[in-house]
Amino acid sequence: MIKKIETILVDIPTIRPHKLSVATMNTQTLVLVRIICGDGIVGWGEATTIGGLNYGEESPQSIKINIDTHIAPLLIGMRANEIGKAMSKIRKIVQGNRFAKCAIETALLDAQGKRLGIPVSELLGGRVRDSFPVAWTLASGDTSKDIAEAEAMIEKKRHNIFKLKIGVKPLDVDIKHVLEIKKALGEKISVRVDVNQAWTELQAVEGMAALEAGGIDLVEQPVKAEHRDSMGRLAQRFAIAVMADEALHGPLDAYQIAHQSAADVFAVKITQSGGLFPAKQVATIAQMAGIGLYGGTMLEGGVGTAASAQLFATFNDLSYGTELFGPLLLTEEILTESLAYRDFGLNVSNKPGLGIDLDIDKINFFRRAQGFTDTIEAISA
Ligand SMILES: [Mg+2]
Repeated sequence: MIKKIETILVDIPTIRPHKLSVATMNTQTLVLVRIICGDGIVGWGEATTIGGLNYGEESPQSIKINIDTHIAPLLIGMRANEIGKAMSKIRKIVQGNRFAKCAIETALLDAQGKRLGIPVSELLGGRVRDSFPVAWTLASGDTSKDIAEAEAMIEKKRHNIFKLKIGVKPLDVDIKHVLEIKKALGEKISVRVDVNQAWTELQAVEGMAALEAGGIDLVEQPVKAEHRDSMGRLAQRFAIAVMADEALHGPLDAYQIAHQSAADVFAVKITQSGGLFPAKQVATIAQMAGIGLYGGTMLEGGVGTAASAQLFATFNDLSYGTELFGPLLLTEEILTESLAYRDFGLNVSNKPGLGIDLDIDKINFFRRAQGFTDTIEAISA
């Protein structure tokens, strides 16, 4: 039985300012959800987003209010092992709120995995891999700093795929920055860019021609998410891959984008999709349409990253790798044992549920006061 659902906001400083075209982050607010079941099992989920309301229509505060006020009461008393029924009830009654739904579904899956003694990947169809590549995002805003950061990552065998956040500066400045980094890192290192919707189609035509000539592998969300015809024209015009990210809000978008041939690659995100099962549907649609897959992140901490990893391990195709580096961008670890980053990738836990344990003292320390909270009790699970 689902006994209690808590939503906890935790503010963790980032290791450096993280500059996106929509926001500059110095702190990440993790939105954690804890579900306590009648059998004593505890499940964790995460609904972290980027930059308040800059990126999407849910903010950390709105996610907490909506879970506490509208979603939790629907579930209290329901059977914790009937995840399909629980999620179907929420999806029927609650519009939107994909991040909140994802956190709840994740927590129920974590609890069920622990109950059955199997990893969440096995509840999602079964894993086909135990590790995958993880890209790092260079977003200091400074070319030489970015090159030094990338070289240090390669040296440590942590990452050999790099994504650059561009779109704020004038086009020629951005292109020069990207191509200098690509030149410094060499042919064997994959360099990609994320424009976060900042370009017009004409800017994209100019930018993508230069990026393609410079050996860049992929352009993520070059134009506005709703400009799907533009995305389709760019995908058709250039050999460099066009990846849909902000344009993808779950299976229906995936179906429509595939139908319109508006992307070469999908960035699959569990929160953007509204949960792990809908994200799995997004991946299935991509594979049916011959669209490549990339495992995306909303810069979640350890819980959301572990959940994403459990899902991405079940994808037959993951040819563009993942960007599950969220916990590495934070100064503090909220897990008692860090996720296993090694050999340019992430090893996916084989332990029951999400395969993680939370550091309750750390969470209490960084937990946001703002009249929302008391400290949470230490519960082992
Ligand atoms: Mg993106």
